[in-house]
Amino acid sequence: MDPIQMVDLRRQYLKIKKDVDEAVLSVLESTAFINGKPVQDFARALASYTNSDYVIPCANGTDALQIAMMALDLQPGDEVITPSFTYIATTEVVALLRLKPVFVDVDPVTFCIDPVAIRKAITSRTKAIVPVHLYGQSAPMEEIMVIAKEYGLFVIEDNAQAIGSRVRFSDGTERMSGTIGTIGTTSFFPSKNLGGYGDGGAIFTQQAKLAEKLQMIANHGQKVRYYHELVGCNSRLDTLQAAILNIKLENLDIYISARQELAAFYDAAFAGHPAIRTPVKAAYSTHVYHQYTLQLDGVNRDDLHKYLADKSVPSMIYYPVPAHRQQMFSAYGSANTELPVTEWLTERVISLPMHTEMDQEQREYIVKNVIAFLNT
Ligand SMILES: *Cc1c(COP(=O)(O)O)cnc(C)c1O
Repeated sequence: MDPIQMVDLRRQYLKIKKDVDEAVLSVLESTAFINGKPVQDFARALASYTNSDYVIPCANGTDALQIAMMALDLQPGDEVITPSFTYIATTEVVALLRLKPVFVDVDPVTFCIDPVAIRKAITSRTKAIVPVHLYGQSAPMEEIMVIAKEYGLFVIEDNAQAIGSRVRFSDGTERMSGTIGTIGTTSFFPSKNLGGYGDGGAIFTQQAKLAEKLQMIANHGQKVRYYHELVGCNSRLDTLQAAILNIKLENLDIYISARQELAAFYDAAFAGHPAIRTPVKAAYSTHVYHQYTLQLDGVNRDDLHKYLADKSVPSMIYYPVPAHRQQMFSAYGSANTELPVTEWLTERVISLPMHTEMDQEQREYIVKNVIAFLNT
């Protein structure tokens, strides 16, 4: 059996090697390393795939969040409601821009921000909500958009983990995650569902004026070269990455199906086991399984992690320390915020290998070892 990895990028690369190598070589030949044609091609293809009016490529998913918040003219001290149960980038940029992160709890079933908690956290200083579509499934966007409308708040969807997931609304319409809020952001970090071979990111919006401003901020605040209207930054998607991402995007639906198929295998294998809660699919969103994350009950999560490691089965804890208890936020005094669901999940989640290239022997070996641990 080949070694099992959390994400097997090499096997995936070998399947598309000819196309990727050709695309990379053609960028090298063109020497159009900055803003070459593949960048515009990719932005257009991604807009079409997500049915988004505007897509602005940028350097990474963290920059995408930062540029989004810069474009909304938030003022120092303005409050931004975010989950604490997320990757640090979501909340870090809030603090970086001198805004105040207000950490709220998540739903124990979907792992995403809890609309009831959002309502409770709203004050006269609240300006924005940043839902995170964690592990590959959208936060309850319909409810979140209702709250945002009621209070006049911006919504920035952190869609780094759920690109390609579809959100259903009660009127029967469907939208791609990341295209519902005021702005959506995503990441093309190599291990993401749509990953490049280096860093990359993108910003989504359906508003022309906002798109122009986002584009300007990502490019030193200029529309016309050397005429800088706004304070911005330098955040570009590399041409080489765009060339690779064009090929990956063509395969994204195949990759999503492979992830869903592996998730279904895990679901069936763990079904009915009292110590394991497998990921729950929300009625309103398709799940693209960026992660396959179990909740354990009555067994020691860290012992399982170690047991699997001894059998050469990798597993990961996303995330071992919730944002509100990170030292970087000590000035906000948020460590004392009570987020019982977040705390509960932090102790009990474990993510199993999830990628597009897992073979039958590997998946059976993983399941066998998880169950062997539970039965000891
Ligand atoms: C990966 C990720 C980011 C940041 O993306 P980078 O491209 O690594 O900067 C932001 N938010 C979430 C939820 C992520 O998973």
